[in-house]
Amino acid sequence: MRVVVFSTKPHDRQFLDAANAGRHDLVYLEARLLPETATLAAGAQAACLFVHDHADAAVLATFAGLGVKHLALRCAGFNNVDLAAAARLGITVARVPAYSPHGVAEHAVALFLTLNRRIHRAYNRVRDGNFSLDGLLGFDVHGKTVGVIGTGKIGLCFAQIMRGFGCRVLAFDVTRQPAAEALGVEYTTLERLYAESDLISLHCPLTPQTQHLIGAGALAQMRDGVYIVNTSRGPLIDTGAVIDALKSGRLGALALDVYEEEEGVFYEDLSGDILADDQLARLLSFPNVLVTSHQAFFTREAVTAIAATTLGNLDDFAAGRPCPHALKA
Ligand code: NAD
Repeated sequence: MRVVVFSTKPHDRQFLDAANAGRHDLVYLEARLLPETATLAAGAQAACLFVHDHADAAVLATFAGLGVKHLALRCAGFNNVDLAAAARLGITVARVPAYSPHGVAEHAVALFLTLNRRIHRAYNRVRDGNFSLDGLLGFDVHGKTVGVIGTGKIGLCFAQIMRGFGCRVLAFDVTRQPAAEALGVEYTTLERLYAESDLISLHCPLTPQTQHLIGAGALAQMRDGVYIVNTSRGPLIDTGAVIDALKSGRLGALALDVYEEEEGVFYEDLSGDILADDQLARLLSFPNVLVTSHQAFFTREAVTAIAATTLGNLDDFAAGRPCPHALKA
């Protein structure tokens, strides 16, 4: 089967080729999937997409006209695919629902610890011959209250790590996980989580209900100096509102692995270019903001698992078998 792979980076080719072992004809494109690039799928029966590829109704109509009948998402999130349009057009969609939730949770913890202990500043400072401690004061994590929003696979791993640090963990989710409660995690309302947490970490999906969950209203309910970590999806946070809270000093620190307007910026080497996004430029100017380029998933274990599941999903489609990772509208 011919499969066109959009948004290819060198590691995609390396891990997908290893998992494929020559059974499908994988055609690698660097281009992101957009209405203007959709016709590049001509001749393929399936397209393989990543987080910044846009399979909206127009793109899917183009795919249907070209005979593309399957989308293999090499990610867990699927907010970038119009599932209803895909179903109407007879295009099946499968994703990789889980691939080392530990890697994402561990990255969230790494971001938090870096900010708290000012590792990002200390790293540069000592290289410049400055061995002073001024401005590097952190706090003990032990005994602090951590708020986890979304206790699915990743949120649960994150909660487990923070319990290991000796934290009290409060959680909010639309469904309770007995495994979280068994760890000593206490489910509560968003209001109480906001009011009592020293650190809030976001692990819920992007839905109409969670878009701009962290906006001016939520920030106003939080403790002075609260830390926020987002490794989930950028639009969970209203960027303008967090910039205001950082400027006023209400927000203690912010770590973003994902950003509202990350498409076209994250995963690209723009060094030497002028950064056109004023909000991102403002965020990068704060000493207490840490931005990574949607890399929380990027561990050897996770990338290996993503490639294996993606190829398994493609095998199921090629064989006409039901796929356990199929997405329904
Ligand atoms: P999951 O489906 O296992 O868990 C999501 C949890 O969020 C579920 O428990 C669900 O009930 C809960 N939830 C749904 N709506 C909610 C709401 N309105 N309020 C609170 N909780 C709600 O997903 P996961 O594998 O743990 O992934 C979490 C998110 O992490 C994904 O949606 C994805 O956006 C993101 N992610 C990011 C990276 C990265 O590299 N940065 C990698 C993988 C996943």
